[in-house]
Order: sequence, then structure tokens, then C-alpha cells
Amino acid sequence: MAEARRLFGTDGVRGTANIEPMTSETALRLGRALAHVSKRQPHRHKILIGKDTRLSGYMLETAMASGICSAGVDVLLVGPLPTPGIAFLTRSLRADAGVVISASHNPFQDNGIKLFSRNGFKLPDEVEAEIEALVLGDSIDALRPTREEIGKAYRIDDAVGRYNVFAKNTFPRHLTLDSLTVAIDCAHGAGYKVAPEVLEELGARVVTLGVDPDGHNINRDAGALHPEHLQAAVRSAGAHIGIATPPVFKFGSEDQKQRYLAPAIRAEKIAALAITEPDAGSDVASIRTHAHRTDGGWIVNGSKMFITNGVRADYYVTAVKTTQEGGHQGISFLIVDKGEGVQASPIEKLGWHASDTALVALDDVFVPDENLLGGENRGFYLIMANFQWERLSMALGSVAAMQDCFDRTLVYAKQREAFGRPIGSFQAIRHKFAEMATRIEAGRALTYHALRLFVDGRDALREVTEAKLLTQRAAFDVADTCLQIHGGAGYMVEYPIERAARDARLGPIGGGTDEIMREILGRTMGL
Ligand SMILES: Cc1cc2nc3c(=O)[nH]c(=O)nc-3n(C[C@H](O)[C@H](O)[C@H](O)COP(=O)(O)OP(=O)(O)OC[C@H]3O[C@@H](n4cnc5c(N)ncnc54)[C@H](O)[C@@H]3O)c2cc1C
Repeated sequence: MAEARRLFGTDGVRGTANIEPMTSETALRLGRALAHVSKRQPHRHKILIGKDTRLSGYMLETAMASGICSAGVDVLLVGPLPTPGIAFLTRSLRADAGVVISASHNPFQDNGIKLFSRNGFKLPDEVEAEIEALVLGDSIDALRPTREEIGKAYRIDDAVGRYNVFAKNTFPRHLTLDSLTVAIDCAHGAGYKVAPEVLEELGARVVTLGVDPDGHNINRDAGALHPEHLQAAVRSAGAHIGIATPPVFKFGSEDQKQRYLAPAIRAEKIAALAITEPDAGSDVASIRTHAHRTDGGWIVNGSKMFITNGVRADYYVTAVKTTQEGGHQGISFLIVDKGEGVQASPIEKLGWHASDTALVALDDVFVPDENLLGGENRGFYLIMANFQWERLSMALGSVAAMQDCFDRTLVYAKQREAFGRPIGSFQAIRHKFAEMATRIEAGRALTYHALRLFVDGRDALREVTEAKLLTQRAAFDVADTCLQIHGGAGYMVEYPIERAARDARLGPIGGGTDEIMREILGRTMGL
């Protein structure tokens, strides 16, 4: 049986700053050991160190640098940068290893040290074991070169600029963020410089929050724990995101974009997507809301169910029957302004309390010709095209939500004790983490794969459907498991896990149910 690790956890070395193992003494030994195992080839070696913005970063960075130099290896200091940036610079500067000093979403008094190999990935387990043996043993003290073989530290002043260029190049060339307003909450963390710069250089007008780190305020009153600040910024800055405007962007005429998309981006108008009906959800083609021709437009009658933003919306991107039969060849989209004949009533729901959901009744509503979106009787195609992005964005959201639940719960399981031990040390709990980590990683890999195909403009129907199916149930299961690990505390509103579990329940239903995803996948296999 492999010997139990004492230093490295699943994500490097973690702990409270200035308490073992998160002390300068251990960091120095860690640096020396890392330098020793990285000296595999006969050239002058270098190791890159980056960090986030927490106070203890200075202490640990200096100690690591000291340990590395004392083992005869040079140090490249890049300062605060997100982990992917540090991985990227480790590769691009041809460093022999990389170090990230960060404790992600945890409070400022915690910290962690993650080690990368030269390719920017986590060190293999056997190398971590070798480093651990050196740090905890006695032999490391003898590994000290002298004279000109002592290492030297260099500060890389343009680290942010170098990563910025790389990050921008991952964005498809044919896309731009011109005329988009983006609000971003950096939570006073490692991305506080690079994230706004990248978005701005891609063309967006950027409204920033959480970009004044002082060593103590990382994640404090900001970031994922306090979405209300971001919501307020989105409202006041007129930033915009949603599922109802993409069809106008993709299928709208220039005139429709000016009348509906531009004001939505300026947050002067709120949009809703109205497809589902009381008697037609999964079976989209069987909608009954119909539009009859009249002079200069249509008269619409029917009702729409479970419409997000339905109460607040100024206009509805609405699916209607434009032939007697309806169905795949007889559905069109009309942009329906809120006004005479439109009645929206709120519906109470389990989660997602940040948005409203409505039953929208349409009673002899006149819609002018110029509000037909994307061609008469071409509506089913529009629905299917729109679903791709909606489902992909749901998968992306779920991957992030799962990781957030997981990270919080891991911290809790290490701190909370029962029967005289941290609950995370019980096998029953430990195995839950192993299962969750595996599902999250699988979900992330599949979602990113689908995203790559989608932004390349390739047919990604199967991959997007698989990503939606895998991640939505997984997100609910992960949130539920995390809630269980929290015990009674997990059921309390005080802990964000309670909300996460409620919100995650929508995933396997909204944007097409899990059963419908399986049906689509079955059809792609010719079944
Ligand atoms: C909070 C929330 C927000 C929403 N926002 C919007 C919105 O903004 N705009 C909008 O248009 N819609 C919206 N919806 C609607 C959502 O897309 C539908 O609820 C969803 O597509 C399912 O339709 P349904 O509720 O009519 O379920 P139904 O179609 O009645 O299905 C009921 C059950 O039967 C199963 N089922 C149906 N057909 C099959 C089959 N062929 N094989 C196996 N099982 C099947 C389903 O999977 C489900 O389990 C929202 C829903 C919610 C809950």
C-alpha cells in the first residue's frame, strides 16, 4: 500500500498561513526540494513563481525563492496572475517548473502552494512523493551549491502583458466584444489586472469590481459569494447577458438589431424568450399559440409558460404557429412588445430567485410585419440553433458551480470534526470527494471540447447535448452531496450550499430535459 501523504493534498500543499505546513521554513525546504528534482538536464535551470493577492503571498514567495536559489536554480517572479497564466508562462518561458501561491476562494488567512512541471501541468504523484520525502527528511540540507552556482531571482515585469496576448489569441478571430458592456468582479484576486485588460482589448466596455487588493480583502464581500454586487453593476452599467437576445443577434435584420438588440445591450430594454406553453414544453413543435395575418402584420393569441424575465421583459422573442398545422414547417418567431393584450403573471419557484418566471397571456396582440424574426415558417430551425448556445452556456455554468461547491465543501470537511477527527478523514466522506472530483473533471473536459467545436463553427450537436446531459444532473448531485457533507448547516440559508442545491435542480429540466437530451443523442446514432 502506498504511504499516506503528509504534505501534499489533491491540490498541492494547503493550510493556514504561518502554521505548519504553510510556514516560511517549510516553503524554503519545498523550494529547495523542487529545485533539486527539477535539475534533470545539464543546463542552468529556472523555476517560475506566481501568486494571488493575499498577504502571506510575499512571505511564501520570498521563502520559496530563497530555497530555490539556495539549491542552485534561478527564479522568475511574475507576481499576481491567475493559475492558467502561471501555467502558460512556465511553458512559454521554458522554465523547468512552476509554482502557484494561492488558496483560490478561501479566506485571506489561508494559503497554498501548487507545483507545476515544465509543461504547465500538475506534477506527477511520484515527483510530489519525492519532494515530500526530501522536505520531511534530512538529506536536503546537504544539497547546497556554492559560489556562482547559487541561483539568482529575476522579476518578469511584463508578465501580465504576455499572458494577456495569449488569452486574447484563444478568442476566435471572427468574434469581437465591440459594443458589449461587461461587468466583471475580480474579487480582489489574482486576475484583477489581466481580466479587465483582456476584455477591454477585445473591444468590450468594461465595468470593474474588486480590483483593489490590499492583502486582506481577497474574496471579501466580493466574487462568487456576493453576486448581488455584480447584479447591481450589471443593472447600473447596462451590461447584458441572456438567451433571448442571441436570436436577434443571429437572425435579426439591421432594423431589428437597432430597435431591440442595441437597447438591450444598453440595458434600456429587457428581453424574454417565449417558447414553452402550458401544453407544449419538450414537444416544441406542438405549440398552439398562433398568429393570423392581418393588414401590415399579425394578430397573436395564446399563452406562454415558465418564461424567464417574463414579468420584467419589455419584449418577447416568441414562437408562434403561422400555418394551420404548425409543426416543424409551420412555426415562426415574432418579436412581441409588451403592451395591449399582453398580460404577464409571476409564478413562484424552488430556486433561481434572482430572476422572475412568468405565465404570459397573449390576447389579440398586434405584431407588425417588420417584427418577423428570421423568415416565415423557419422558426423551428431558429429554436434548434438557439438551443445550442443555451445548452452550452448551461453546461459551462454548471462546471463552475460544481467546482465552487466542491472547493467550499473540501475546506469544511477538513475543519469540521466528529468523533475526534475531521469528517473528511472518514472513508465514506473521502470517497464522496473522489467521486465528485472525477465527475467535475469529466464534465469540464466534455464541455470545453463542445465549446471548442461550437466556436469553430463546426457541427457540435452531439457534443453540446452530451455536455448538457452530463453536467446538469452532475451539478445537482454534487450540490446535494456537498449539502449532505455539511450536515445540518447545509440546510441553513446562512450557507451558500443551500441555495446552490436549489438552483442546480433546474438544470436537468430547463433548456430541454435530460430525457430529451437522451432522445436527441439516440437519434444521432440512427436509433
Ligand atoms: C425556472 C424555469 C425557467 C424557464 N425559462 C424558460 C424560458 O425563458 N423560455 C421558455 O420558452 N421556456 C422556459 N422554461 C421551460 C422549460 O424549457 C421546460 O420546462 C422544459 O423544456 C420541459 O418542458 P415541460 O415543463 O413542458 O415538461 P414536459 O414536456 O411536460 O415533460 C414532463 C416530463 O416528461 C418527460 N418527457 C417528455 N417527453 C418525453 C419523451 N419523448 N421521452 C421521455 N420523456 C419525456 C420530460 O423529460 C419530463 O420529465 C423554463 C422552465 C423553468 C422550470
